[in-house]
Amino acid sequence: QAGVIVVGGGQGGFQVAASLREEGYQGSITLIGDEPGLPYQRPPLSKGFLAGKAQAQQIELRPPAFYAEQGIALLAPERVTSVDRAARRVGLASGASLAYEHLVLATGARARIPTVPGADLPGILPLRSRADAEAMLALLPQVRRLVVVGGGFIGLEVAAVGTDMGLDVRVIEFADRVLKRCVSAGVSAYLADAQAKRGVQFSFETGVIAFSGSEGRVARVQTSRDDDFEADLVVVGVGVEPNVELARQAGLPVQDGIVVDAHLLTADPAISAIGDCARYPTTWLAAPVRLESVQNAVDQARCVAARLAGRGTPYSKVPWFWSDQGDNRLQIAGVSEAGDSAVLRGDRACGKFSVFRFRAGRLAAVESINSPADHMAARKLLAAGTPVTPEQAADASLKLATLLA
Ligand code: FAD
Repeated sequence: QAGVIVVGGGQGGFQVAASLREEGYQGSITLIGDEPGLPYQRPPLSKGFLAGKAQAQQIELRPPAFYAEQGIALLAPERVTSVDRAARRVGLASGASLAYEHLVLATGARARIPTVPGADLPGILPLRSRADAEAMLALLPQVRRLVVVGGGFIGLEVAAVGTDMGLDVRVIEFADRVLKRCVSAGVSAYLADAQAKRGVQFSFETGVIAFSGSEGRVARVQTSRDDDFEADLVVVGVGVEPNVELARQAGLPVQDGIVVDAHLLTADPAISAIGDCARYPTTWLAAPVRLESVQNAVDQARCVAARLAGRGTPYSKVPWFWSDQGDNRLQIAGVSEAGDSAVLRGDRACGKFSVFRFRAGRLAAVESINSPADHMAARKLLAAGTPVTPEQAADASLKLATLLA
């Protein structure tokens, strides 16, 4: 009997399978992932796993017995290479084909690699998969100078792990500040200062134009400002490309992500898409958005599972995210845009504060540094649509939770 087939054994794909059973779905569930082993969490790859504090087994989402107990057929490593929408079948790299009643695309995203000379030299690595992290771990004993290309979340987390290991770390960032697309200038400055105090050197407003090697591996990084940095290891964190090829081949609309509606359905009512690969309409922003976070993948998976079990509602969760950089934990609730105003709550100097972002007079997002209570309150305020004024946000003596009452 054809049931649900999930393409992609990552955070979202795993969660669809698990949540379908929690919702009481009785049909067959097949989870197909092209990475070897069991589904695992990616966040530790740039944190504890890279620091050698977590083993491969500890980052697995569930132990091996879970899949048999739940009646989830896990095919891995196996790749879905085609979708025949008319016949409702997927083709596999191994040559087999499987029928589905409903197909969930949870194909995630892949790391973007700069197309500059020398980019294929050994010692230049992206960080997306456990295999990438393991390749890095294998190289680390011979590394003294680490160059990180890209001052985004992954780049900054890797830089923090690098300084913990006593490496010389340089971050090269195209923009004039770190995390420019995602956080206010104040939070960018705080996080960059914190890393600089730990010894990280930053090169802003410059890009890599070439890598060169010696003895068969990367040795130098050349930038558009004519700087030339020595490197034993280069970690590239310059963003991702959503994996949309399967959807495109199937003739589904794609626009920097697989286009889905408010129920996370593609143009084909028998196919949903979730997580890093999906672009969905949201009440938080004027235009449809593609988000890359654990929360987004997990909550979208739950939404699709509930629909397939007969309890469909539009997807409407408040986006949230976290990033650990050395001793600093950044948490973000909501989604900000470049023009949003920024109101400070708390004291930057003591390393605990939040920045409230307002758009057209309404709270749009809250960025919290080492302030978990602000973050939790922000998620609730955003979910409830509670009006918050900039004055209330700035008043650190006002308990945010009281606004909810
Ligand atoms: P993925 O987890 O990428 O899973 C997609 C899977 O599908 C992959 O295994 C892929 O290989 C597979 N696949 C693709 N095509 C096919 C095919 N045709 N056939 C079979 N399989 C296929 N988020 C946070 O909120 N906080 C963090 O601190 C954080 N840290 C991160 C650190 C790192 C290093 C990385 C890489 C990500 C981090 N994220 C973090 C982001 C978060 O992990 C992702 O948003 C989340 O994993 C997305 O889940 P997904 O299921 O959409 O995609």
